[in-house]
Amino acid sequence: MNTAELLARRYRLIGKKAPLFYDQPLHIVKGEGVWLYDADGKRYLDVYNNVPNVGHCHPHVVEAISKQAAQLNVHTRYLHENIVNYGEKLTGLLDDSLSMLFLTCTGSEANEVALRMARHHTGKQGIICSNATYHGNTTAVDALATLFNDGKPNGPYVKAVDFPDSYRPLNGLSGEALTDAYLQQIETAIADFNTEGTGFAGMLICPIFANEGLPDLPPNYLQKAAALVRAAGGVVIFDEVQSSFGRTGKMWGHEHSGVTPDILTLGKPMGNGHPLAGAVCKADMGNAYRDDVMYFNTFGGNPVSCAAGLAVLEVIEQEGLVENAQQVGSIVKAGLHKLAEKYQIIGDVRGSGLFFGVELVEDRLSKTPATAAAARLSNLMKEQGVLISKIGRYDNILKMRPPICFAQEHADLLLSNLDLAFSKL
Ligand code: PMP
Repeated sequence: MNTAELLARRYRLIGKKAPLFYDQPLHIVKGEGVWLYDADGKRYLDVYNNVPNVGHCHPHVVEAISKQAAQLNVHTRYLHENIVNYGEKLTGLLDDSLSMLFLTCTGSEANEVALRMARHHTGKQGIICSNATYHGNTTAVDALATLFNDGKPNGPYVKAVDFPDSYRPLNGLSGEALTDAYLQQIETAIADFNTEGTGFAGMLICPIFANEGLPDLPPNYLQKAAALVRAAGGVVIFDEVQSSFGRTGKMWGHEHSGVTPDILTLGKPMGNGHPLAGAVCKADMGNAYRDDVMYFNTFGGNPVSCAAGLAVLEVIEQEGLVENAQQVGSIVKAGLHKLAEKYQIIGDVRGSGLFFGVELVEDRLSKTPATAAAARLSNLMKEQGVLISKIGRYDNILKMRPPICFAQEHADLLLSNLDLAFSKL
């Protein structure tokens, strides 16, 4: 089938506005490790996809899914060993306090259940989120989608605070003073929720602020924000749909700060492409919620999903992928800093492990976002056979986030291609 025909059929069925990457959309037919192949047989280095975290079509995960699918797949109201085997292994990799699991099929549902639990636990409604974020597509979670709503909440009982950003700092501040300025906004939001009678239920943020563009956080921001939220009786929810399973060079994104959330939500990489997501929480909170609310998810935690999740954890462990993300990631980051010495358009290089944000600016003093250049660079890279994307409220931050089996040779290929693409801008 040719690409034009496929596009026409897709437009008719899914709509022209359904998001598609690149000026010339890509028709992918095969994946293997860090490589993707299009319908014409052209090979692309995948530096974008975090869902196939341990590598596209990893044989161990494919085998686990196939074996279980050939034996039994069914909804989740029967006893099955897979869910407990997986749940015990997963929670065993987290702080002891995070011991109870709600499995879902999407990150959106995981955040939905987290919001419901926080509101149930506190008996209050108010949720704080950042002003350039996205956490999913249910009605309650969409209320937090400030990234697509000019920084404003998109529904009731939500207040957005500025995300912590050391590159474009609030009021030009730095260090602890910058941290305090951001914390002041959280304090004000909590006070306003209380005055308005909404009450304060908690704060839902991504601990690495992935959709915001991976900002370098001012000192102790997460520690102090969590303490503030808890002191006001709120629940700390970390959305680790993007930052988990080794992505940042640690198993969990929150390990970088040492702050353990009360609820942790997971998704994208959890099943390496199989739709598996969930919320992990403290037992008292989870049990109290279960006592009062009939929460049931037909597919969430089914035997095949749990087999996939378990296989993902096994691969991460057996192949040392967390360490790999850390080691290869530091090579890439050093290379990105070198490129920044050569190309003035690179305003800032950020990220850890195998997750990078490269902010493009028209000039380094004014920091005017170079949005068009980011789009052009991403398209140029695709033409050269390397897939990356872009993020941030100005859409000017190159986003690179390959499967974490990315090796040194792939890092070299990425960096030489970036050099070439920047030289063409
Ligand atoms: N949380 C974050 C941080 C995300 O980036 C996304 C998706 N981009 C979601 C939640 C929603 O996940 P899903 O699309 O699986 O519902």
